[in-house]
Amino acid sequence: MKYWQQKDLQYIWHPCSQMKDYEDFPPIVIERGEGPYIYDMEGKAYLDAVSSWWVNLFGHSNKRINKAIKDQCDRLEHVIFANFSHKPAIELAERIVQITPAELKKVFFADNGSSAIEVALKLSYQYHRQRGAVAKTKFVAITDSYHGETLGALAVGDLDLYSRIFKKLTMKTYKALGPDCYRCFYGHRREDCCAPCFENLEKLVEKKHREICGVIIEPLIQGAAGMKIYPPVYLQKLRELCSRYHIHFIADEIAVGFGRTGKMFACEHAGVSPDIMCLSKGLTAGYLPLALTLVTEEIYQAFYADYTEMKAFMHSHSYTGNPIACAVANESLNIFRDENVLEKNLHKSRLMGLLAREKAENHRYIGEFRQLGMVGALELVEDKATKKAFDWRKRVGYNIYKIALEKGVLLRPLGNVIYFMPPYVVGEKEIELMINTAFAAIDQYFGTD
Ligand SMILES: *Cc1c(COP(=O)(O)O)cnc(C)c1O
Repeated sequence: MKYWQQKDLQYIWHPCSQMKDYEDFPPIVIERGEGPYIYDMEGKAYLDAVSSWWVNLFGHSNKRINKAIKDQCDRLEHVIFANFSHKPAIELAERIVQITPAELKKVFFADNGSSAIEVALKLSYQYHRQRGAVAKTKFVAITDSYHGETLGALAVGDLDLYSRIFKKLTMKTYKALGPDCYRCFYGHRREDCCAPCFENLEKLVEKKHREICGVIIEPLIQGAAGMKIYPPVYLQKLRELCSRYHIHFIADEIAVGFGRTGKMFACEHAGVSPDIMCLSKGLTAGYLPLALTLVTEEIYQAFYADYTEMKAFMHSHSYTGNPIACAVANESLNIFRDENVLEKNLHKSRLMGLLAREKAENHRYIGEFRQLGMVGALELVEDKATKKAFDWRKRVGYNIYKIALEKGVLLRPLGNVIYFMPPYVVGEKEIELMINTAFAAIDQYFGTD
């Protein structure tokens, strides 16, 4: 083990890690980044095929964003956001309202994705209370959902890996069986599906709507569940259902926002406007923690009253609306505008699909290659015919990840799903490297090379 790795393990408790794993696989200490690559202390390059946990958009140490940070630091680093404001936040709020679905009109600031979810849940709950619907105390989510890891966010999530041990600490929520297009119970295909599986959510809401504040969902891609992709028609049905019962459609676009799915926001694929939308991750192009919760005018108005009516939303975070983070977010939007990013990504995502699909179809241990825009995923299975998953104890994905790292590509998997979610600055060369290395690592692990 190298000096910095020893020092690291002496003091640091890493996220989402069994620290004992680091005994024989210590953390890789990164010294610098450039474009889609990061470099360790020995100068070894790694292609960042997961955008450093889904946040990076325009590469590491991007010159334009670096400059925006320096300029903002020289003017104002931070200021209290209650009763005070600043140009970067005002400009960002206006631009975000302009580019998000039409009904979203007001922006509440937070500083990470989970907090944006907490804000969404609290707003929804308080909204209904202030309109007299005091029986509404519950939220609905679908199976395999992920919305972050604070206690409120965990409660609306459904991944046992993160939430099981905390069940007694978290509020009760309703979970409806969600779409599962690879292992569809209805025998449908994703491409031409009318989402009959929506009936599970529909029945639940029909029965319980008097107690329900809202339905929270990751639009089109259930990220942490393994990049599970489902069709837009599901969201159209959800919009209709929420309107029918006057409950909130809460869209968690934290992972899929800012172009990941090929459109700026995933809800656009379905042409729906949610009542509440959460944004973070790509918001600052992978630079700084910042999050937004957007709401409709109608929600905003339910809180707007004389002070003594006590209807204000009393929620705050110390670093709320941080000016440097806002300046970065504005510069990121400038890059989208100036550099035709979504159009260029179209070509990149086509290449990704072209290279991965055929190889996946012929591979003994790959059950499915699925893709939406700049997100692609390979689901590894023990048996292609029965779609039987590998025993999680074998840690197949984790072992393939280690092989790929040796080969210079960072492909951190989700269980046994290897996915591609590269920064938008990847070129054809990097896309080829990413796909070829993934398959080489898979083959090396299974001995199928
Ligand atoms: C990452 C993520 C979150 C949580 O964001 P954090 O900033 O990690 O707290 C919530 N929802 C989705 C869909 C995410 O991918």
